[in-house]
Formats: sequence, C-alpha cells, structure tokens
Amino acid sequence: MTSLSGDSDHGGPSAEPQHSLVCARCGAPADGPPPTTWTCSVENGVRQYFCDRCSRENLRSIEGRLDSAWW
Ligand SMILES: [Zn+2]
Repeated sequence: MTSLSGDSDHGGPSAEPQHSLVCARCGAPADGPPPTTWTCSVENGVRQYFCDRCSRENLRSIEGRLDSAWW
C-alpha cells in the first residue's frame, strides 16, 4: 500500500477493527465478549454465536441436525 500524503492515521484510540461479534442468525451485534446467554455452536470448525433469542429457537434445530447427522 502506498499512500500519497504519507501520513499514517492509525493512532486512534478505538480505531482498531475488533472482531465484532454478531449473531449468526439475526445478526444482532454484541459488544465485547459474547454474553453468557449466547450460545456458541461449532459447525464445520467455524464458531457461530447465537443470541439468547435465537439460541432458543436454534437449540431445536441444532439438536435436530445432530440427530440427523447420524444418519
Ligand atoms: Zn439472534
């Protein structure tokens, strides 16, 4: 990358792009670490977080998938 002006502007206090955690279902953002009410499920080696709202409904489908995965 070559900037024309040459002045770097990444010295901001909160300019670092943190890994924003969002619900994998409804996309609800979570500030900071995932709340304890959220559910973390690993699918294909990828961590997916679901908010307390979605985890409720997703719990059924997750267990359902696990069952069907055995077939
Ligand atoms: Zn959600």
